[in-house]
Amino acid sequence: MINKVYLDRKKPTFKGNLHLHTTWSDGSLPAVQVVEAFKSKGYHFISITDHDIYARTDEFNTADFVTLPGMERGGLNQIADKNPGYHFGVLNDPTVDSELDRFGHLEQFPVPIPWVGDHSPQLLIDDMRAHGNLVIFNHPEWHLTRFEDMVKYDGFFAIEIYNHATEWSTTSSYGAAYWDHALQNGKRVFGIAADDSHEHDPNWKFPEYGGGWVQVQAAALDPVDIVKSLKQGEFYSSSGPEIYDLRVVDGQLMIECSPCKFIMFKSFPQRGAFLVNFDSGEPMTHASMKVEQDMHYIRVECIDFQGNVAWSNPIFVADLLQGGE
Ligand SMILES: [Zn+2]
Ligand SMILES: [Zn+2]
Repeated sequence: MINKVYLDRKKPTFKGNLHLHTTWSDGSLPAVQVVEAFKSKGYHFISITDHDIYARTDEFNTADFVTLPGMERGGLNQIADKNPGYHFGVLNDPTVDSELDRFGHLEQFPVPIPWVGDHSPQLLIDDMRAHGNLVIFNHPEWHLTRFEDMVKYDGFFAIEIYNHATEWSTTSSYGAAYWDHALQNGKRVFGIAADDSHEHDPNWKFPEYGGGWVQVQAAALDPVDIVKSLKQGEFYSSSGPEIYDLRVVDGQLMIECSPCKFIMFKSFPQRGAFLVNFDSGEPMTHASMKVEQDMHYIRVECIDFQGNVAWSNPIFVADLLQGGE
């Protein structure tokens, strides 16, 4: 088994939100104010993902803040007007040659999208990718997605495992069970926490923004480097805690994090280690577990004393066995 570093405490880490709305669709603030709101909260990058309208806002990019072009594509309902419909995050991928023209700034797309059979979501995913985008399966719990969809459809690079706005509005925000279903069926997909913020009122005691984010380890704060790292899974998601380091050394998966109540290694097919100081109540800041060769994947959740979570991406055990014993 080889040693491998997944998150390195020495590498620069950039905080970003990959899902939010502005007045270009149903958000409450114009893009320029949304950019300022996230800058003031210490974010390094955002993607403006309005409903069915693409944003390409290089004019907001500075040395310490970048915007990644994107949108949220939806309006695809199996039963028209009877369920919330599929929503996909669409994120410009500057690291590939686009088969078809890339979308332009404020390019609009028609809704609803006609349902032409069970392959309709796949047609949409394929079309977004052909135009040079990555696709994220947004808020599966809020959408009442069938678990089988995680396996039936292909081409999304990540699943939104925490969506802050749907926690805020309907407490249906956690998609990690969908993620495990995909992973258990052999998918190599990552997990993304995001805001999906529509309102940006900093005076609210329970704000709708700043509640879910990704921390990306990248060579530089640059759209190409950020997307490159996202595609490699060199990031973690959070609604609060921080993960400083994650690596496999001599067959042990080791994590370092900010002070947490629980650290849970979610592995498949065997259950992983669960760590908590029941007796002393002392916070956990690091943990490890042995990687078994017959495990498919292990991912780690660090849960703080407020119940907020940091989710590592999965490590795929097969990757560690290549070139190992
Ligand atoms: Zn949505
Ligand atoms: Zn949204």
